[in-house]
Amino acid sequence: MKKQLTLAAVNAKYSHTSLSVRSLKSYLVKQGFAAPCCVECTINDPYFTILDRIMKADGDIVGLSCYIWNAQLVKQLSFDIKALAPEKTLFIGGPEVSFRERDVFSEYAADFIIKGEGELPLSQYLQGMPPETIKGIMTPAFDNGLAGNVPLEDIPFVYGENELAGLQNRAVYYETTRGCPFHCSFCISSLSEGVRALPMDRIKRELQLFIDKKIRKVKLVDRTFNYDRKRAYEIFQYIIENSRETCFHFEVGADLFDEETLELLKTAPAGIIQFEAGVQTTNSETSRLICRTNSLEKLKHNVGLLKQCKMRLHLDLIAGLPKEDLQSFYNSFDEIYRLKPDILQLGFLKMLYGSKIRREADLFHYIYRKEPPYEVLKNDSISFPELMRLKDMEEAVEIYHNSRSFVTALNYVFDENEIRPSAFFDALGQALKGEGRLSFKEQFALIGRIYRMLELKKSDDFLEHLKYDYVQKNRGPLPGCFANFKSKQASKAFFELLDNEEAVLKYFPWLSVYKPKERKKIVDFELFCFEDEKKLFAFDRKNGIVVDLSPELMYNGFENLCFFSM
Ligand code: SF4
Repeated sequence: MKKQLTLAAVNAKYSHTSLSVRSLKSYLVKQGFAAPCCVECTINDPYFTILDRIMKADGDIVGLSCYIWNAQLVKQLSFDIKALAPEKTLFIGGPEVSFRERDVFSEYAADFIIKGEGELPLSQYLQGMPPETIKGIMTPAFDNGLAGNVPLEDIPFVYGENELAGLQNRAVYYETTRGCPFHCSFCISSLSEGVRALPMDRIKRELQLFIDKKIRKVKLVDRTFNYDRKRAYEIFQYIIENSRETCFHFEVGADLFDEETLELLKTAPAGIIQFEAGVQTTNSETSRLICRTNSLEKLKHNVGLLKQCKMRLHLDLIAGLPKEDLQSFYNSFDEIYRLKPDILQLGFLKMLYGSKIRREADLFHYIYRKEPPYEVLKNDSISFPELMRLKDMEEAVEIYHNSRSFVTALNYVFDENEIRPSAFFDALGQALKGEGRLSFKEQFALIGRIYRMLELKKSDDFLEHLKYDYVQKNRGPLPGCFANFKSKQASKAFFELLDNEEAVLKYFPWLSVYKPKERKKIVDFELFCFEDEKKLFAFDRKNGIVVDLSPELMYNGFENLCFFSM
């Protein structure tokens, strides 16, 4: 009797989709096996819902994919599945178990572990080959090492047409390559041999399917997408020519772009391409110790040019790297912050099984958590309290920089003052500590307080810039910390402007199709006094449009109406 296979993935979020189970399923079906039953849940689902769904899938063989973020859950599931159904064969695969020794069986109740890519060992197992002869299979009795690499073109496109239609609003994962040509010591992608890529004509066909189905976001999991400049250029060109609604997210080496590609990227319509690039550190000794060979100068030059493109740019730094002490990390942060990435992610080093840095841990006196995600607690360059201080700073960066809700205010902080970005975010981080979850209004009040506490220049002017950020996101009365220059006459004059078809065509052409009453629901206005310059802006938050109406202040009498009360 043929055996039924269940593949289960516990994703980090509902919006994510599991590429690994889909990839295994596609490959096995192409090899002539019955389609496995796939169960997808998230780590936020109730535990018994996850267990129940896997048990109900009724597979004789159950496969679980294991990552640092679901490892604890997979451990519990493995024991409960085997306790409830000892007759089921349970295997676990994925990066979290691929580089483990046989002692892993004391942590997981698996019959076997798949090390490396699952496609070949699983299909050989289903064909009936004895496990002890299959590369990539480990049991408590033997360890056959890493699996062989499957040719990527042997894995058919993993999404069915009907399935794609249901994934429009989720992040759809896609790979055009496996492997990375680089050898960063903290990363297990560096352990694969070379890079395998799908043929270009197939990639274009598949990109077109995402575009046709109007998928909101496609995240390419390729480890360094632009390792091959010519290949990357051709794919970017295809996306620029064909995508208008689907956004493609790439992990790239920012220093690897050439001038030709940067020129091409300038022509990309807004919102269809996003880049995430790891910088990790700007400390050259640390870079050498973690085997990073990227050129910092080239990276800075390229980021400067990418900033001119209409795309979101995300840069990463890692705290806790060898020989990077607190001051060195602050230097890295300052240098990268000044490049003005849209997102600056502060990560903390994880000592992953299989990574070179974990093997070298004693060289730098690393102490790290023994359980996933194996985060660093200290080393000979940075102490535990210093890392905790950076965690506070990370929260401040998330709330104040990465939210993109304080762009005008933060530009003002660093344009008008000499203060280092690290010092400002450190102060915010310390102030946030113990505050719990702040409301949006409280976040504004806190940054205003810190600005004054640090005795930075022209705090009233800073508050006006902060008010601009606030108004851009919020309609309704201003919080008390902001100066309010609005008067009844000003509102009356603004509404008269919205009744005036000529003025609407000039300043709000997209509103001309609406009746005056509806226009008033869509836009409102606010008055600002930046140093001695009076400004009037209209805000359409729905469409993300701000119109500078300040010229009206001078030419049609707005000024008298608006600023009379000052
Ligand atoms: S960190 Fe990035 S560049 Fe370095 S080995 Fe990993 S995937 Fe490759």
